[in-house]
Amino acid sequence: MGLFSKDIKTFDDLFVHTLQDIYYAEKKIAKSLPTMIEKASDPQLKADFKHHLGETENHILRVEEVFKMHGAKPKTTKCPAIDGIIDEADEIAGDVADPHVLDAALIAAAQAVEHYEMTRYGTLVAWAKRLGRPDCASVLAKNLTEEKNADSKLTKLAESKVNLQAAE
Ligand code: ZN
Ligand code: FE
Ligand code: FE
Repeated sequence: MGLFSKDIKTFDDLFVHTLQDIYYAEKKIAKSLPTMIEKASDPQLKADFKHHLGETENHILRVEEVFKMHGAKPKTTKCPAIDGIIDEADEIAGDVADPHVLDAALIAAAQAVEHYEMTRYGTLVAWAKRLGRPDCASVLAKNLTEEKNADSKLTKLAESKVNLQAAE
């Protein structure tokens, strides 16, 4: 379903469509994280990915909650952007033999995912407020905060350790 297809007429429709987009993305991410946990060598990276899988399962529940609060049924709409980000990650990870370089590649891929989520939640929070739903906005803001924290943890791990080992 294209963004400008006829089923999106109002700002409210656009909000629900974007909720369906992030719902699809979160489910896809929950399916991809176990492989990333398996591929990671650095124990801290593995632990961070495991922690974020738990958070991601919660993100799915919060998005479902927002659907219900908004009077809409939880439903996914295909998100070609997250499919592309994850396909690219799988492709690159499949090519890297050195475990330290692979860890650096996994962090880069995970940060691309986090940034996609951050842009979606940033938009959804702003739209929910504008639609007069601060209650929906505050639930979505919890996910946004956790994505931002996950992203900055990865930056710290990369810059303090993983990139150094990858460069050796
Ligand atoms: Zn998430
Ligand atoms: Fe999308
Ligand atoms: Fe995330």
